[in-house]
Amino acid sequence: MTRHYSIAFIPGDGIGVDVLGEGRKVLDALSSLDGGLKIGYQEFDWSCEYYMNNGVMMPENGLDQLKGHDSIYLGAVGYPGVPDHVSLWGLLLPIRRQFQQYINLRPVKLLRGIKPPLAGKGLEDLDFIVIRENNEGEYSSIGGRMYEGTEMDMAIQSAVFTRHGVERVLRYAFSLASSKGKRKKLTAATKSNGINHTMPFWDEYVRKINSEYPDVATEITHIDALAAFFVTKPESFDVVVASNLFGDILTDLGAAIVGGLGIAPSANINPEKNFPSMFEPVHGSAPDIAGKGIANPTAAIWCAGMMLDHLGEYELAAVLMESLQQVLEEGAALTPDLGGKASTWEFGDEVCRKILGKG
Ligand code: ATP
Ligand code: MG
Repeated sequence: MTRHYSIAFIPGDGIGVDVLGEGRKVLDALSSLDGGLKIGYQEFDWSCEYYMNNGVMMPENGLDQLKGHDSIYLGAVGYPGVPDHVSLWGLLLPIRRQFQQYINLRPVKLLRGIKPPLAGKGLEDLDFIVIRENNEGEYSSIGGRMYEGTEMDMAIQSAVFTRHGVERVLRYAFSLASSKGKRKKLTAATKSNGINHTMPFWDEYVRKINSEYPDVATEITHIDALAAFFVTKPESFDVVVASNLFGDILTDLGAAIVGGLGIAPSANINPEKNFPSMFEPVHGSAPDIAGKGIANPTAAIWCAGMMLDHLGEYELAAVLMESLQQVLEEGAALTPDLGGKASTWEFGDEVCRKILGKG
């Protein structure tokens, strides 16, 4: 039976363009391996370059154009001279919010062939998932600046935690820990000793949703201690759930302990599947290496694997991940960030060869 998927393809700026091309090549290789998989792409040139020509990151009906696709595959947006808040509020945040991608999912898994930046025991078991609340929390635009230029100069910003928003992210996290977790363990980040309204609220709902998943062992850990444990005992985690800001910080830390920006993938998931989810590498446009053909496409290729998983193509996602790890392990086609000499496309070609070899 043929399975058709339509993907909104947004390469964006800088190395986003280079790495996303490799992800697409890998998806094409999977389609030739499995004749039933048919992927159609619609390409969008929305980017900072588009912004410089048009004054907006995407057209007014941009979200409508994306709505009907099965997934959104995004490279990176960013360009020197264009402020980050323009690309963020002009493209990424509207997509995440409008399409209710309230789960930001980032695997923290040490791939075979990657030399761990941390030394220590048990790193072969380093494989967990961080879920960041992606729609509310500390990232609200509620607040303001007062008495500027006086002795009383001050700024205030509010955080918003709603029952609806907190319950849905926690339920997703508990359900994941219960169904897929190797250790059936959930760690929730908090700071209820210092932040005494929103964090106790968050903790209360952690306990409440935990009662729906009694098989999951739960710990509620202060964010400061949790950050330290990411470094001292990362192999002890299974599913970690955190608010928008805490999750933002933890996920970058997670990316660092499994080998850095060239490796780390992320998914913005709408679990109900009533809107498309979006898959993007953690790294940005990296203007310093853009156009040089040396960006590591591992993160982008892993993102394509996460996309296949989300679409229910579990076997092909597994073939992709196995092929990717074989190339990393063999080490002959590594990009310079991993100590190799290969170009972005040589790495991508090698992954495709491994995939086609499984036919
Ligand atoms: P942006 O403004 O779009 O976020 P940035 O300058 O912050 O871009 P990042 O992409 O966040 O750049 O990455 C920081 C640095 O890490 C880059 O300048 C680059 O040297 C390195 N880097 C990031 N991604 C990769 C990759 N895929 N392969 C190799 N090096 C990378
Ligand atoms: Mg950056």
